[in-house]
Amino acid sequence: MDRYASQLETLAHNGNLRRLPEMEPQGLYLVRDGVSMLNLSSNDYLGLADNVALKSEFLQTLNPQTCRFSSTSSRLLTGNYPAYTRLEKRLAQLYGAESALVFNSGYHANSGILPAVTNNRSLILADKLVHASIVDGIGLSKARCIRYRHNNYEQLERLVAENADQYERIFIVTESIFSMDGDESDLPRLVTLKRQYPQVYLYLDEAHAFGVRGELGLGCAEEQGVVGDIDFLVGTFGKAAASMGAFVICSETMKQYLVNTMRPLIFTTALPPVNLEWTLFIVNKICNMQKRREHLAQIGRRVREALNPLNGGIVSSSHIIPYVLGESERAVEVALRLQHEGFYLLPVRPPTVPRGTSRLRISLNAECSDSDIDRLITTLQHIQSSL
Ligand code: PMP
Repeated sequence: MDRYASQLETLAHNGNLRRLPEMEPQGLYLVRDGVSMLNLSSNDYLGLADNVALKSEFLQTLNPQTCRFSSTSSRLLTGNYPAYTRLEKRLAQLYGAESALVFNSGYHANSGILPAVTNNRSLILADKLVHASIVDGIGLSKARCIRYRHNNYEQLERLVAENADQYERIFIVTESIFSMDGDESDLPRLVTLKRQYPQVYLYLDEAHAFGVRGELGLGCAEEQGVVGDIDFLVGTFGKAAASMGAFVICSETMKQYLVNTMRPLIFTTALPPVNLEWTLFIVNKICNMQKRREHLAQIGRRVREALNPLNGGIVSSSHIIPYVLGESERAVEVALRLQHEGFYLLPVRPPTVPRGTSRLRISLNAECSDSDIDRLITTLQHIQSSL
């Protein structure tokens, strides 16, 4: 027991101890210890999670006979309710793709797809900043993996050229909008690279872009017209889509291959049918939410312009805006100051981000009004000038 306790003490000493917070989200706000704060830490980018009109409309479609809160078994046994088929068909249709496959979460998707599709004759080339769920998938894979420097395409192109003859398949793995830095991949450049090599596959995690980018809200690949070139396009429903679960857009052969080989799909209870129904309901609504997406983009631009341009060398281009503070203790202190001013912002520390880049992750929500953003900017500028 001593070892565990002393490890916790070390974490606390370095300002890196985490605790499960007691709080209650209420729409755009969050209440903690009786104090209400503007919630700028959730991934509810379109502000739909607590939208009463949407929830009421959805609830009217339910009745006790048809409404199910558990699937009671895995998809391959009796859990594959018709709502799965309808959701997957709709996703494939929206993306103009052959197939979609739905999972319980983005963590399931990312930790399961790579181990299933790679072997010891595969090479994974992954961006240095890919999400922990992808890192865990890489860890479970038998493939060799090289992490390339963040968004460094010269290095990536060199690695592909050097290794192309030595591996049966090469998987380039990245995110479209990066979860912690809020910057983006150059998708056309990745597609150009992939097209030069028949053995190269593109794996793109759009967790933070689904719902937010593109005319229909399908993500950055839609926005940039490259959906057809992405072999594994992963999206999640737990962020802008205000639900739970995830999906991959892929070929029908790949879908059937994953159904037969992917352990986090096979060995887990399927999602509750009511959850799948809600996801389908929301996905259909999101297609028409261009106004929310435009507002989110506009407030994102305003907050980015207000922050110190140096910002630890990190340049966000999205609604996720890191405010880099360096050491963890400093990030904790500034987070507390902002909370005191009514903004629920949290410190993001190692190991989630590299040492020395502890930060606040400002995660904007399309429900924020222009005056909310005015107040945020004034407070941030005041804090920046006092540091
Ligand atoms: N991918 C990325 C880029 C993420 O940021 C996250 C969660 N924060 C996930 C995948 C995991 O998705 P989920 O929360 O649905 O497990």
